[in-house]
Amino acid sequence: MKNRSSRLSGFATLSRDERIAALSDWLPEEMDAADILTETGALPGDLVERMVENAIGVMPVPLGVATNMIVDGEDVLVPMATEESSVIAAVGNAAKRCRATGGFRTSYAGSLTIAQVQILDVTDPNRARLEILRRFEEIRDLCNQVDPMLVELGGGLRDVEVRLLEGRHGTMVVVHLIVDTKDAMGANAVNTMAERIAPVLAGWTGGRSLLRILSNLADRRLTRAEAVWPATEVGGAAVVDTILEAADFAVVDPYRAATHNKGIMNGVSAVVLATGNDTRAIESGAHAYAAQSGHYGPLTRWEKTKNGDLAGSIEIPLSLGIVGGATRIHPVARLALAIMGTDSAEALSRCVAAVGLAQNFGAVRALATDGIQKGHMALHAQNIAIAAGAEGDEIMRIADAMKASGEINERAAKTLLAEIRT
Ligand code: NAD
Repeated sequence: MKNRSSRLSGFATLSRDERIAALSDWLPEEMDAADILTETGALPGDLVERMVENAIGVMPVPLGVATNMIVDGEDVLVPMATEESSVIAAVGNAAKRCRATGGFRTSYAGSLTIAQVQILDVTDPNRARLEILRRFEEIRDLCNQVDPMLVELGGGLRDVEVRLLEGRHGTMVVVHLIVDTKDAMGANAVNTMAERIAPVLAGWTGGRSLLRILSNLADRRLTRAEAVWPATEVGGAAVVDTILEAADFAVVDPYRAATHNKGIMNGVSAVVLATGNDTRAIESGAHAYAAQSGHYGPLTRWEKTKNGDLAGSIEIPLSLGIVGGATRIHPVARLALAIMGTDSAEALSRCVAAVGLAQNFGAVRALATDGIQKGHMALHAQNIAIAAGAEGDEIMRIADAMKASGEINERAAKTLLAEIRT
C-alpha cells in the first residue's frame, strides 16, 4: 500500500497541466499522463475504426479527478468522465466530509455473471427442469470448453438455475448459466457459452431454443458501500434530520426515486465511462435492481447513528471489468484504471459503489439545504455564455454578470455579449 493522500488540497485551483503533473505520483513510471491527455482527443483514428462501424470521429467528454476519497482504508483518486458540471466537485466534497470517520467501507458479492437461455415448445417443462439440473456437470464442461483462458484464471461456470415462466405463447423454460467471469464484465464470455449450450438443452428437453444472452440484472455482482458523515460535517443536527426527510421521499415515490438514482448514476456512470466499461449495462442493471421488489425505490439508504451523525449505504449491481471490451484498448481507460490503482474488477467495483454513495450525499444534502442550482451555477453560467457565443475572457465576464444579476439564461447572456462588443 502506497502512503499517499487523495486529499489534494488546492487541486481545483491548479492549471490543467499542473493537475496532470500532480498525477505522476499515482501512476506507474512507464505511463505518461501528459502524453495521453494533452491531446484532448486521445483516441487514434485506426482504433476508432476498429471500435465502431461507420466511424466518422470521436465525441470527447471532459475527464476529471475526484479527490479526497478513502475506500477501505486506502486513499484513491477517482477519474470521472462526464459532460455535467458539479458532479466531480460533489464527490470530492462528500468524500472530504467523511474522511474523519475513515471514508467508505465496502463489500463485494463476487463476479458471477448470468446468461439466459430461453427454451420454448417444451411438452413437460417440469421434467425438462429436472433433467437440466441433473446434467449440471455436462453443462459445466461444455460451457467451460469455450473459454479455457477464463477457466485457467479460476473462472468458469459455477451453477445452473432453471425457471419456468408463463408467457403468452406457453411455458418458457429459462436456464440461467451462472458464470464466474473474474476480472471481465463477461458479456462476450457468457454469451458464447449460452450459444454453445442452447442447442444441447433444446435437444435434451425436446424444445426449441430462442434467446441466448446475458442478463444485465447483475444481482450476483452486488457491491455495497457505507460511510458515516459527522453531523458537524453535514451542517448540524437539523440538516441531518432534513436529509432523512428528503431521502424518505425517494423511498415512497418512484417519481422522486428516479431522480435520486439518476444522481447516484451521475457518479457511477462517470467512473464507468472513464474506465472504458459499459455504461448502459450498469445503468439498466441498477434501475432493474431498484425495481426488483416490484416497487421502484432508491439504491441508497440514509439513517441517523446513535450519536446523531448521518450514515449512508448503497447496494448496487456492478458488472465491471478491467479486461475486455474497451477497458484495455482505450488509452484513456487504461490511464484511468492506472490512476485508481485498481488491479481487479473487485477493487474497481468497490470504488464505483463508494462514488455512487458520495454523489448521493452531495445531491441530497444540496437539495435539502440550498437547492441544487447554487452549486451548478458557476460552471453552468459559463456554459450558457459559451452557448450564446462568448469567447475568451468574455465568458467569465458574462458568467459573473449573470450570477450577480441572478438572471442566468441565454437571452441575458446574448444581451450582455452585445453590450460588451459594442
Ligand atoms: P471480452 O470477451 O473482450 O474479454 C473477456 C475475456 O478475456 C474472458 O472471456 C477471458 O477469456 C479473457 N480474460 C483475460 N484475462 C482475464 C481475467 N483476469 N478475468 C476474466 N477474463 C479474462 O469482454 P467481456 O467482458 O466478455 O465482454 C464485455 C463487452 O461485451 C463490453 O464491450 C460490452 O459492452 C459488450 N456486450 C454487452 C452486452 C450487454 O451488456 N447486454 C451484450 C453483448 C456485448
